[in-house]
Amino acid sequence: MNETMPVCHSLEDTVMENDTLSVDQYAEIFALQNHILELLALGSDDTKLLKNLCEMEEKLVPGAVASIMLMDESSGLMHVLEAPSIPDSGKDMLNGLRPGPGGGSCGNVIYRQEAQFVTDIVNDSRWDELRNVAQKFGLGACWSMPIRMENNKIIGTFALSSFEKRIPDSFHKNLLEIGAFITGIILKRREQYERISKHEQRINTLGAAFENAYEAIIITDEQNQIVEINQAFSKIFGYSHEEIIGKNPKILSSGRHDCFYYEQMWHSINDTGHWNGEIWNRRKDGIEIIQWISISAITHPQTGEKNYLAVTLDISALKASEEKLSYMAFHDPLTGLANRTKLFERIDQCIQRSKRNHTVAALLYLDLDRFKNLNDSLGHIHGDKILVEVSERLSTRIRSNDMLARVGGDEFVIWLEDLQNISEAETVAEKLLSIFNDPFEIESQSFQLQGSIGISMYPQDAKERDSLLKNADAAMYRAKEDTQRKIVFYRTQMTQQAKKSLRLETELYQALREREFELYYQPKIDAKSGKLYGAEALIRWNHPTRGLIMPGDFISFAEQTSLISQMGEYVLECAFKQLRMWRNEFSADFSISVNISGRQLNEDDIKSLLKIIGVNIDLASFIMIELTETFLMHHAHSAVSMLEQLKSSGVKLSIDDFGTGYSSLGYLKRFKVDELKIDRLLINDIESDPNDRAISNAVIAMAHTLGLSVVAEGVETLAQAEILRESGCDIFQGFYFDRPLKVEEFFERYLEGSK
Ligand code: C2E
Ligand code: MG
Ligand code: MG
Repeated sequence: MNETMPVCHSLEDTVMENDTLSVDQYAEIFALQNHILELLALGSDDTKLLKNLCEMEEKLVPGAVASIMLMDESSGLMHVLEAPSIPDSGKDMLNGLRPGPGGGSCGNVIYRQEAQFVTDIVNDSRWDELRNVAQKFGLGACWSMPIRMENNKIIGTFALSSFEKRIPDSFHKNLLEIGAFITGIILKRREQYERISKHEQRINTLGAAFENAYEAIIITDEQNQIVEINQAFSKIFGYSHEEIIGKNPKILSSGRHDCFYYEQMWHSINDTGHWNGEIWNRRKDGIEIIQWISISAITHPQTGEKNYLAVTLDISALKASEEKLSYMAFHDPLTGLANRTKLFERIDQCIQRSKRNHTVAALLYLDLDRFKNLNDSLGHIHGDKILVEVSERLSTRIRSNDMLARVGGDEFVIWLEDLQNISEAETVAEKLLSIFNDPFEIESQSFQLQGSIGISMYPQDAKERDSLLKNADAAMYRAKEDTQRKIVFYRTQMTQQAKKSLRLETELYQALREREFELYYQPKIDAKSGKLYGAEALIRWNHPTRGLIMPGDFISFAEQTSLISQMGEYVLECAFKQLRMWRNEFSADFSISVNISGRQLNEDDIKSLLKIIGVNIDLASFIMIELTETFLMHHAHSAVSMLEQLKSSGVKLSIDDFGTGYSSLGYLKRFKVDELKIDRLLINDIESDPNDRAISNAVIAMAHTLGLSVVAEGVETLAQAEILRESGCDIFQGFYFDRPLKVEEFFERYLEGSK
């Protein structure tokens, strides 16, 4: 090696030009090159290879250390990639080197874009910025060669640094070139590996995403033959990969969509490259599923090859919940029947159609009689059970194209379409009412129910839905009032009646607020002494424009609403007040009778009455509560406990209008009443009708055996009074003695003198 050592002409950055390589040097360079390339071919790891390369070169140039530095484009700084003989502290000083005129040999390679041979570091300005490094490690010379990639781009440097001033010869230059070249190859391979592995990674990620996607994915080729499916597809449709590849997706069709549907789909795919929508498909086992499908046409950018990608999502659950929601929107939750909304929709549709077909339809409004009482006395759970049974029974009586809907608590509407005539509607109504022939059983107790039906015909009675309903409702109310006819067809006057009712209701509420009600008192006379025995409080309405209105004109209406409760409380309070006043001022010692509507015999109303009694407890025994016989007869079951509560508060009980309900006295015994009032109708003909006389005789006698005192109501003549007195009647009440009187009048006639 020595023979060919270049002569050092000067300390310039030049390579000796005349020196040549010796055979040994060739051999050494060749061996180095071969060794590294062999390792490279065997796939040895980059770091190891570069380390090896540096070490081998160092061996060939004693007193020198090899280093490889790379340029980082993004930061513009260099860092040490490999330098096995440079201690870490040295590397640290070199890392972050900025290429420039004072950036040492390597910094200058990048700065000047060519090899740098610094032969005397101490005196070379190219090392100005790296003086500390040079001093610390005692560097004398440093030759650095650019590492080039194809397109000549310099990406780093391969350098040999010597601890003494030194001029490189051809051998050194060759070593530097070989070092830079091999480093370039290694780095290129690394970059390729990195690129390939990134691509592979991407492919792998995409593949995993495809395979593991929750949605079933199908890829078809240009002929729409399936070329790929994922696991979700197999799981959902039941076809294995082998079974489905090469098949046309038609295999999945459920047959629910016509060809027009698919034509439109392909139209959109061909025009816009995309389609999405709902499709009913069929699984391998034949079960149909509803799916949301998104299809995209994909054209390969290089080959122009076309594929179709279909992503399908099972939306059966979504559909089911949608259906449930829409079911809930259109059905009554208790009975499952159509609700008001659904009924209205159906009626409107039918009316639309009828305009063309001229069909006849009927709206039947069915209401259960006295259901409220049943519900109150049995409790809501049993009430609901009855409603469900009613709806089930009704369902069996209608035709398949009729509609049965529940529109309120105990109100049902039956909509009948395509009728020939009115009598058809009546026949259906009769059939519907026949469901009440059999009793309803609740906890092994049977109850007889009754219903009333109002019918309004389309188009005769009304041409639009709301009026049809209103008319049928008015007719139903008529049927409810009528004990004979349970099916009533609408007539024009009924609407007027309904309008009147509405006005009456408004006016009654106002009357309560404005205190337009007044109590009149009708004396009850002791049959034996002819003296005042008591008084019955009877309500009157001083209407601001219509004058005095009698209870017969508003009580039964008030009973249909909650008005009756407020009115009843008002009357009881007034009666107590009046009683207190008369007793205080005139030491009056008689009782006042107060009429209570059967409608007030429910928990809430009784509670309110008991409260009023509680406040006036000292006078409770001077109040006689009157309840009609008819009511007690019909509500015996629920009334007993209520009457017991009243009775135990201290008030007395009286049965009003007795004799018309044909109830046996024994039956009434259970109510623990104190008094019995014979109805005016029996008294009326007592003179002429021996039958009535016999009945009143018997009633009086039997009442006495039960310990009840007997009042005869509506005594209009002396003769009547005489007969009754003979029969043993205890008390008289009637026009013969006095009419119901205003307070002042009553006071003048019966109390003034007693002061
Ligand atoms: P009622 O409880 O049977 O009251 C007796 C009715 O017979 C009273 O009619 C009275 O004026 C009438 N009357 C009495 N003597 C004779 C007579 O000799 N001949 C005839 N023809 N009638 C006679 P009024 O005051 O019109 O009351 C009618 C019904 O209205 C009452 O019948 C009662 O059921 C009800 N009522 C009156 N006030 C109230 C009240 O404050 N609350 C409730 N819930 N109902 C009341
Ligand atoms: Mg009465
Ligand atoms: Mg009466």
